[in-house]
Amino acid sequence: MQAFDQIETVVKSNTYNISKKVCWLISIVIGICLVVLIALTVYFGVRSPNEIIVYVEATSLSTSTTNQNEITTTTRRNEVTSTTNQIETTATITPTPPVERIPTNLKPVLYEWTITPNLTDETFVGDLLYTFTCLESTNKLVLHMVDLNIDNSTIAIVNSSSGTMPVFDAWSYDDYNQFMIIDFSSDFQPETIYTVHIVYWAAIDSDLEGLYLSNYVDASGTSRTFLTSQMEPIYARSALPCVDEPARKAVFRITVNHDPSYVVWTNGELERSDALVDGRVNSYFAPTLNMSTYLLALIVASKADFACLPDRVISSKNITSRTCGRTQILPQIAYADEVAFKALNFFNEYFDIDYALPKIEHFAVPDFEGGVSLRFSYQSLILGLLIYAEPGLVFDEKTGSTSQQQYVTLIVAHEIAHQWFGNLVSPAWWGELWLKEGFANYMETVASDFIEPSWRQEELFVIEKIFSFMKADSLPTSRPISVESTNLADIFLMFDRITYDKGSSIIRMMAMFLGAEVFQQGIRNYLKSLSYSSATQQDLWRYLTEATNNTVDVERIMTGWTHQAGYPVIEINRIYTKNDQQLQQQKVNGELIITQQPFNLFPSTTKQETWWVPFKYLDQASLELSNENPLIWLNSTSTTLSVTTSDSNWIIGNPNYFGTYRVKYDPRNFQLILTQLQTNHTLIPVINRGALIDDTFAVSRAFLINATDAYRLIDYLKDERDFVPWTAAFSAIDQQEYLLGDNEIYPEIQSYFLSLVLPLYNSIGWGYINQTADWRRALLQPKVLRAVCSFGYPECIDRVKTMFRQWYLNSTENGIPTSLRSLVYCFAVSEGSYEEFQFLWNRLENEVESIETSNLLDGLACTKDRSRTVWFLNQHLKDGSVIREQDITDSIVNVASSRDVYPIAWIWIQENWSKLFAKWGKTDSGLDDVIDEITNRFVTVRQLNEFKIFADSIVDKGTVYRQFQLSLDKINAAIAWNTANIASITELIRSMNDSSTMSHRLSSFTIPLHDDLH
Ligand SMILES: [Zn+2]
Repeated sequence: MQAFDQIETVVKSNTYNISKKVCWLISIVIGICLVVLIALTVYFGVRSPNEIIVYVEATSLSTSTTNQNEITTTTRRNEVTSTTNQIETTATITPTPPVERIPTNLKPVLYEWTITPNLTDETFVGDLLYTFTCLESTNKLVLHMVDLNIDNSTIAIVNSSSGTMPVFDAWSYDDYNQFMIIDFSSDFQPETIYTVHIVYWAAIDSDLEGLYLSNYVDASGTSRTFLTSQMEPIYARSALPCVDEPARKAVFRITVNHDPSYVVWTNGELERSDALVDGRVNSYFAPTLNMSTYLLALIVASKADFACLPDRVISSKNITSRTCGRTQILPQIAYADEVAFKALNFFNEYFDIDYALPKIEHFAVPDFEGGVSLRFSYQSLILGLLIYAEPGLVFDEKTGSTSQQQYVTLIVAHEIAHQWFGNLVSPAWWGELWLKEGFANYMETVASDFIEPSWRQEELFVIEKIFSFMKADSLPTSRPISVESTNLADIFLMFDRITYDKGSSIIRMMAMFLGAEVFQQGIRNYLKSLSYSSATQQDLWRYLTEATNNTVDVERIMTGWTHQAGYPVIEINRIYTKNDQQLQQQKVNGELIITQQPFNLFPSTTKQETWWVPFKYLDQASLELSNENPLIWLNSTSTTLSVTTSDSNWIIGNPNYFGTYRVKYDPRNFQLILTQLQTNHTLIPVINRGALIDDTFAVSRAFLINATDAYRLIDYLKDERDFVPWTAAFSAIDQQEYLLGDNEIYPEIQSYFLSLVLPLYNSIGWGYINQTADWRRALLQPKVLRAVCSFGYPECIDRVKTMFRQWYLNSTENGIPTSLRSLVYCFAVSEGSYEEFQFLWNRLENEVESIETSNLLDGLACTKDRSRTVWFLNQHLKDGSVIREQDITDSIVNVASSRDVYPIAWIWIQENWSKLFAKWGKTDSGLDDVIDEITNRFVTVRQLNEFKIFADSIVDKGTVYRQFQLSLDKINAAIAWNTANIASITELIRSMNDSSTMSHRLSSFTIPLHDDLH
């Protein structure tokens, strides 16, 4: 800490005091690089034109395919064109070639695996008897394997059903495919079963992958370790040689040789434990069901420090459910234990297939990849033994926050759903990961609606999953849900919002257009027919279509949604009723012209896809009469519908966000909606109020309307109190801050946003909210307080300071409610001095609970002080850092998201890239999130160029390659949007501020960092 001043000097000189000589030198180097780049582009462009994506000028974009007479669109695409012309072309960042698949001539049958871990030496010895059936003759046995030290003398065929045993010759290693290729002197014969024996050893480290050591502090305060595992997606090969592909299932029979002071958990039930003469114990486990290798799970931990809550038994089905973890946290996992039992019962009934094993165990471990934030938690979908990061199971009913309770409920339900979607029926390949993750993500909502009906989780699904994927899926380089071939990087990258949130959103859409009962019947048949094997999406389509008695062709409807990236925006243009002069009073019915086009933040003429869109709408009259308008399929670019509602009634598309598409309205209808929101917003259903906000801001990002229309829409928020529209609004406000945060108008925009949220702030306040009685307000409270404090509202900041001060003066007693800690720490540090920062850091050094650790890291990241920022970032990469491995990338993301210090974080990321990449560049550990977050605020050509130079300088981009591409697109889109919209937003905000009676004008505390916006 004493080195702050020194660091600050370094940062300043690095950043701002570059001498003229250096500038010249950099210019020359950049010039040379550009020439080389152009030459390479021309050369490779001629050779393989398909690999180069060129942003096409936007001149040929039409506003609407059926632009009718009286419809006026307010699109500003012409202005956008001039901007996109200035943006240089970007070459596609191509990934490495796909990996080869293991030949199917030998079929896995059984892994008899004996493991002897040595937690002191941090090594293990594996003894494998692998049994396979020969389908086609070959003399090569190919297995996945990585970082295992094989004892060649042990490799031998030890059993065969024909009695003939080919002799081991030699083995070689294919590094790229991670193949161990074992040659034998003669061929294996078809329809014969063989067993090969292999002994090996390997190191166990703490990298959260494969078998790894997890750290914890025991009851006496001593630091200790235990062995746990994370095999998905492709780490089983680092535990044993195996066919590590999801469809290549086999039975596992596991034996663990361990010290008697340890206890073992794995997929199967313990059959018996034998004491050995050397004092150790052999624990034998029952064979598993036929399962994928990524489901393998193993925990070896101290008997004194780990235990389970009492068993819960479904006696009629003889299934035992138990929840385990560190003995200290057992009381805090009681809620998860109850949810787990309820969810298991629910799914047994819902799927009409009983859970397949006699036991299901939920295990909380302190160190787990994914950490506290819900980073696509592929932690725990393990057959028989489900392993969670502790925050996934911990919820203290006395002090826990509403969001923790929700998180635990959803994650437990998600992982139990995987016992059917994923374990019973697995996707045939990682490219169709959505068949398990999309379903588990959808089913968690269905189950939690059953477990906690008052939460109305269905409404939260729209904002937390649909809006979330839509933001991620709106750039030209986004990917389809279903991907044909994958390289190693792509296997990790499949665990993203597209797989989880888009996957679950289109499943919800199917459930809605098929109807709940038909949908349930279809997936029951799918699961029953394909149990213990694997499936493709064609299988799913087939069973769902059959459930409709072949009246709906599900494949035809859904293929576009899974094979095309992105989603459509639907324009609703009304032809209003005209009085027929000749027939006097007789009226001609109004019409709706509905058109679709791909939604894109950076329009490109290469995107011409259409989707099968289930279109529904609400009109004011039908709402008052409780009539539903029928479902219409839009499968072409445009169609026209007749409507009977009066011209003075509004029409709103996509009730309850029925389909996964955005909606844009003609100006007159938009004005009718606006008037409704301003007069009595509650007449519009709550999901659609949220949707109007999210869609309108998004549509403005795609240049289909003026951004000022979105600002006008949210003016009604002064009267809004519901969680759903406000959550959509906070997300939109964050986006506006990313785009405009460094602009001179931003303080005035903040002032406007503050005026919208203050009535809600005053109604919710800082007092205790009983979450059982008022779930939504409890969930909304931290969001509102955080927003108001972020706008610098003095009363909010004073509250924070007072709460923090009380804790600071009596540090043994933290009276800050759990749900408010993260935000209180954040603003105490950002508005405070070295004292507050140091206090939190000292707490972090001694903190053992994961959730509080996360709160403290959130707080530390909020410092506005540059030298403290650099010091804090440096701690993430120090050997033996107190910041846990699982929290590192999330914590760097926190700093990168700060409006105050993101430029410092950007310099730090570039300077430390090689270290970051060496640690996290080859797996899915959040380095892509770091690049995503830091580029959220890049909105100028200068920042774009800086980012491109950095991206071009990195040859191997590992699992971050796709994010580099997406970020380039995102920055281009932001530049174009700012250029098109800043003037009109400035004008609107100034006129509103001039005419308003707002009493909370803020001083201009923002110093514009960029002078190249205009
Ligand atoms: Zn999952």
